[in-house]
Amino acid sequence: MLPLFFPKICFGCKKILNSGERTICVICRHKLPLTHFHTTGNRAMLKVFDGQIPVKHATSLLYFEKAGLTQKLIHLLKYKKGLEIGVFFGKWLGAELSEISEYKTIEAVIPVPLHKRKFKKRGYNQVTGFGKAIAQALNISYQDEVLLKKSASGSQVFKNRVKRLFNPTEVFTCNNKHLIRDKHILIVDDIMTTGATLEASALQLLKVEGVCISFATMAFVA
Ligand SMILES: [Zn+2]
Repeated sequence: MLPLFFPKICFGCKKILNSGERTICVICRHKLPLTHFHTTGNRAMLKVFDGQIPVKHATSLLYFEKAGLTQKLIHLLKYKKGLEIGVFFGKWLGAELSEISEYKTIEAVIPVPLHKRKFKKRGYNQVTGFGKAIAQALNISYQDEVLLKKSASGSQVFKNRVKRLFNPTEVFTCNNKHLIRDKHILIVDDIMTTGATLEASALQLLKVEGVCISFATMAFVA
């Protein structure tokens, strides 16, 4: 009878999870809009970077739709401490990537960082669980002391207003360069919209000799 005292509920529909279910119930899981980019070779995400920066592979577990289930889950992860959602997505994507030869050359996972002020306010980086689970599935290291964020960006409204006034590549900085020299790095983030954040992150790491880059996100805005 013990489990009845603390029933785990689905982050998607709030129904009580069955004993075999974790984080998200099977019904919600089947509703999630998977991109299948990595299994089908779909270049929709990769082609955003064509002619901008060299990127080996780019994939996302899910499509992001306004008011959809993906948005709901990522909102819970970012603002309501739904940390196990990130781990759930990371285990899922990591298991799939570990079966694909192109992704087997990746040697380290690096998350898009939060500025330390924002980190302090939120208490966590929402990408950590996702990135660590992928690193574990690929049996490689997770490095969160390489890419750092220099300046905190303000609210979404403020960010939009000043977007054209600053160069996003100046927002990130690369430390501990010796850790990534000559390595194939997977940069991970929660949502890819324009690709500007991933690009700015990659530009810093690509300054290090011999580095090549791939991207993986939880969600992709098509
Ligand atoms: Zn559900």
